[in-house]
Amino acid sequence: MTLIGITTYDGLSEIKTPIAAVGQHYIRAILQAGGTPVLIPNQLDEVGWREVYARLDGILFTGGGDIEPGIFGGEPHPRVGELDPERDTLEIPLLRLVVAQEKPFLGICRGLQVTNVALGGTLYTHIEDQHPGALKHDWYPDIPRDTLAHPVRVEEGSRMAEIFGEPLLQVNSLHHQGIKDLAPSLKAAAYAPDGIIEAVEMPGHRFGLAVQWHPEWLTDQEPMRKLFHAFVQAAAA
Ligand code: MN
Repeated sequence: MTLIGITTYDGLSEIKTPIAAVGQHYIRAILQAGGTPVLIPNQLDEVGWREVYARLDGILFTGGGDIEPGIFGGEPHPRVGELDPERDTLEIPLLRLVVAQEKPFLGICRGLQVTNVALGGTLYTHIEDQHPGALKHDWYPDIPRDTLAHPVRVEEGSRMAEIFGEPLLQVNSLHHQGIKDLAPSLKAAAYAPDGIIEAVEMPGHRFGLAVQWHPEWLTDQEPMRKLFHAFVQAAAA
């Protein structure tokens, strides 16, 4: 059994009770790839999450609200929202541990941003106002999450190129923030046509990849299934 830890968000249920949750699409994508999903609640303290971590074979850092901009010296912006200090406090050290111990990890959306920030990079706190010539990247909330918003060009010779087997993908886009300065230990693996980094990877790491789009909503596309499969395979090895 290949145990894949999945990070979660905190919110309110329809009857207004506090919940720890994650979108089922992440869970189904891991199951489809042969992994066993294990949710990681943000309520764990460091001793707790480290014990859970030790039993996991890989970690999926999922999408969610924005990272507290103070952590990376980000520009304040009125659109910064859904902050969750408890989640930042768990995910950032967890990402660093996963990197230090070379445990396979996959980041999605916020997960890519956590990867970059935890390793010393910075973010645009609102792409539209801070990146000249930006395309529309915030195709939410009232748009189907599998809407193909823009293409990405995968870098030749990258691990991603090897996994996807195609240089051009059509992806969804559910983010208003993005990578500004790339962390020194990461390499850009795919770009949107406006130059925004849409995927990163960590050279030398067994499996350290992150994407800005949401492949868990696009598992009808073979390259997206290949990404989850490669991740679970790396975790199983
Ligand atoms: Mn995008």
